[in-house]
Amino acid sequence: MRTGLSKDLIARVLGGAPKYTIQQLEEKFPQRNLPDGAFVTRFAPSPTGYMHIGGLYGALIDCKLAQQSGGVFMLRIEDTDTKREVADAVQIINESMDRFGLKYNNVPEYGPYYQSQRKDIYHSVVAHLLENGLAYPCFLSAADMEEIRENQKAAGFATGIYGEFARDRNLSEDEIIANLDKGLVPSIRLYSTGNPEQRIFCKDAVRGSIGFPENNEDIVLIKSNDGLPTYHFAHLCDDHFMRTTHVIRGEEWLPSLPLHVQLFRMMDWRAPLYIHTSTIDKIDEESGKQRKLSKRKDPEANVAFFLEAGWPVEAVIEYLGNIAASGYEEAKMKGQVKSFWDYEMRAKKIPMSGALFDMKKLEWWAKEFIGSLPVPELVNRVVRWANEYGNNAQRAMCKEQSYLTSVLSIERDNPKRVRKDFITWSQTLENVAFFWDELFVPNSEYEFNMDALREFLETYDESDDKDTWWAKIVAVAEKCDVKNGDVAMNLRVALAGRTNTPDLYSIMSVMGGERVIKRIEGVIK
Ligand code: GLU
Repeated sequence: MRTGLSKDLIARVLGGAPKYTIQQLEEKFPQRNLPDGAFVTRFAPSPTGYMHIGGLYGALIDCKLAQQSGGVFMLRIEDTDTKREVADAVQIINESMDRFGLKYNNVPEYGPYYQSQRKDIYHSVVAHLLENGLAYPCFLSAADMEEIRENQKAAGFATGIYGEFARDRNLSEDEIIANLDKGLVPSIRLYSTGNPEQRIFCKDAVRGSIGFPENNEDIVLIKSNDGLPTYHFAHLCDDHFMRTTHVIRGEEWLPSLPLHVQLFRMMDWRAPLYIHTSTIDKIDEESGKQRKLSKRKDPEANVAFFLEAGWPVEAVIEYLGNIAASGYEEAKMKGQVKSFWDYEMRAKKIPMSGALFDMKKLEWWAKEFIGSLPVPELVNRVVRWANEYGNNAQRAMCKEQSYLTSVLSIERDNPKRVRKDFITWSQTLENVAFFWDELFVPNSEYEFNMDALREFLETYDESDDKDTWWAKIVAVAEKCDVKNGDVAMNLRVALAGRTNTPDLYSIMSVMGGERVIKRIEGVIK
């Protein structure tokens, strides 16, 4: 430990006296009054203008664990890196959370929730560290640090500001004052007393206790350029005073865990429980190897992709939920729960590695979900999507809403045997586009049996019930000496332009006599 700075000097170093004492902060942000076992979690994105699927995965876990335990889920905007900030970024985060149904509860008592608005808190905590010799002002310039780094590399030492390389860690008050008088603005660094030869044991709620070398780096707590905290220091202050019980974050933060535990111990605060989640990976098409979903290479890394392409948000949530809680699928299939939100997930079972995002598997969840929707809801969702993201043709289809409703009702009258061939709202429309004359593409390759089609037209009557209709097909088959199925297939291709369609009788009923005759005649001509 070094000697602490006087209150006056601290005020000078920080550009103002701290607003609160630690005691005052403890009182300002009291322990939350929640049931036993309640999780207080937060999603803490940096506003980069992009929401990664891994962020959504983490936020879902946060939200679910808080919700099912009667706790609180917060959204905290980690906007201390002003260089990286992008306009509208917060709006993108908020919109994504809203679309995917992740509701947070930022009660004003524990705010503000933008780190850039919490400077008073960080400065008050760092003042306490400065006063107790646990932190110090550091005047190293970027050039100084570069030089230190080069020397360390040349000598084969670990890089960083630590031990003998931490030039300013033992500056006296007079030396500090002299630097300030020169107009130099310091950063505030941790005065680390860790010894990397020794191990510190840190707990991850899923991985268990992990031993790390102690941290000896005098990491920056408060940056010199803007007086804002680094992630490490902000996390310490925020998760303590927001009374976070569980920090669920990506495994890229695991190496920082010993530092964070060190910071909490230094403050004599109880650290939250940490859960470091696996990255969301995919199997690379070229190499066949598993790798992280990449912002650059994979469109599906961006949650906006799913909205634009028309994936049901529920299916994405169900799928991500099942990655986080692998027992969910079985419970759902057994009918024990209706959605992921009803399933009791266990924090301890969150996978530590190898979380794979597989579009094929997502398709399955999407088919299940769309298959479960009542027709009016299905139509509603398709129309809403088309109006926001659809092309002209898709929007035109949605204008004829009653026809669209009839089309989408086909094979949906028996909830136990619903066709499960719709994946996205977009593909749902594409799948049934042939019902619209402007979008229908006649099949020019199929070898039609013109006789059969002609014979069918002779006897066709749009008011026939299904049995009468089928009897007529059988009669045509007999007359033309082909199989019943051949006649049906000829009609199918004539009407839909393809061989795989829903129930033929339903198609004809929905299309109506005029359209049916026109299409068959179109083929005959
Ligand atoms: N802002 C950090 C990130 O985006 C948050 C990590 C955390 O949840 O603590 O990675």
